[in-house]
Amino acid sequence: MQQNLLDFDAQALTGYLTEIGEKPFRARQLMRWIYKGGESDFAAMTDIAASLRDKLSQSACITVPKVLREELSDDGTRKWLLDAGTGNAVEAVYIPEETRGTLCISTQAGCSLNCSFCSTGKQGFNRNLTVAEIIGQLWWANHQVGRNSEGLWPVSNVVMMGMGEPLLNFDNTVRALRLMLDDHGFGLSRRRVTVSTSGIVPAIDRLRDECPVALAVSLHAPNDKLRDELVPINQKYPLQQLLASCQRYLDRAPRDFITFEYVMLDGVNDSVQHAHELVKLVREVPCKFNLIPFNPFPNSRYRRSRPDSINHFRDVLMQADIVTTTRKTRGDDIAAACGQLAGQVQDKTRRTLQRTVGAM
Ligand code: SAH
Ligand code: SF4
Repeated sequence: MQQNLLDFDAQALTGYLTEIGEKPFRARQLMRWIYKGGESDFAAMTDIAASLRDKLSQSACITVPKVLREELSDDGTRKWLLDAGTGNAVEAVYIPEETRGTLCISTQAGCSLNCSFCSTGKQGFNRNLTVAEIIGQLWWANHQVGRNSEGLWPVSNVVMMGMGEPLLNFDNTVRALRLMLDDHGFGLSRRRVTVSTSGIVPAIDRLRDECPVALAVSLHAPNDKLRDELVPINQKYPLQQLLASCQRYLDRAPRDFITFEYVMLDGVNDSVQHAHELVKLVREVPCKFNLIPFNPFPNSRYRRSRPDSINHFRDVLMQADIVTTTRKTRGDDIAAACGQLAGQVQDKTRRTLQRTVGAM
C-alpha cells in the first residue's frame, strides 16, 4: 500500500525519508510543495531529484478524503461532505468573511459523548479520523476555493468545531495542528487555530503542554445539574475541575482568554437567572462568551431561544464586563450551520457523487 504523506507531521516525514535512504532536509522541501504549493503530483516538484520523485511516485501518495458532495450557500459558505468509509461521512465548512476565511473541520466520524442537543452525538461514534483526513480538509478547502488576489491561501483561521471531539482523537489532532502551525506547512498562527472541546480535563492539560492553540470550551450550562444533562461528560469532569483546567491552560495559551461556547436552548438554559449564575461561575477565568442559537435537526427535542432572550442573556454577561458575541447563523440553506453537520449522512450513500453545486 502506498504511504499517504499527509499522515506525517514534519518529524514523521523526516523519519520516513531517512528510512528510504534520503536526506532529512528533503522533508522541508516536500512539505513546502505539499502545503505551501498545494501540489499533490510528485512529478511537478521540479527542484526535487528525479530519482526521489520516481521513488515517491511508487511508494507514496498525497491523498485527501473523497468528496461525496459539495454545496455552496447563498452567503458564500461552502460545505464538503467527505467520505470516511463504511457508509460514514464527515463535513468541512468554509466561511468567508471580509477580513478572514475560516474553515471548520471535523476530527471524528460521529462522537461518543452524546450531548443532548447535538446531531453528531445522536449518530454515535464511528471512528477517529486519520491525520491525513484531518489535514486533508484544510488542503482541500484551500485548493477548491483557490488563492486570493494577494496569492495567499484563503483559509486564514481553522476551528475544530465540526464533527467529533478533537481531544478524544488527541494524537492525530495534535499532529494535524503541528502541520497547520509549521512554517513549512500552512504556517498559521496559534492564535488563529482553535480547538473546541466539551471539556476532557486531562486532555486540556496535555494540549497545554504539547501544542497550545486557542481554546474554546463548550460550557452550555451554569451548574453541574443542568450540564450533566446537556453535556454528559460533565459527570466525569464536573465544572470546578473544568474551570481549573481552563485556568491552567491560560498560562501557556496564545490568547489571554478562553472562549466559552453556550448553545441557547429555549426555556432550558437561557434565562436571566442562568446568566447571573454563569457570571458567578466563571468570575475567576478570563473569558469571552460566544452564544450559539440552537440549530434544530430532525427529531431534536429543543427549540432555539427567542432573540429577546438571547439579547437579555448577553446583556447580563456584558454588564459583568464579559465580552459576549452571538454567533451568526451561516449557511442555513445548506444545513452547514453548527451542529447540523451530520444531517444527511444516513442517506448519503444514495447520493454519492451527486454534486449539488449550482452557482460555482
Ligand atoms: N466536540 C467539540 C467540538 C465540536 S461541536 C465540542 O463539543 O466542543 C462544536 C460546537 O457546536 C460545540 O460548542 C457544540 O456544543 C455546538 N453544537 C452542537 N450541536 C449544536 C446545535 N444543534 N446547535 C448549536 N450548536 C451546537
Ligand atoms: Fe460530541 Fe461536541 Fe456533539 Fe457533544 S457537542 S456530542 S462533544 S461533537
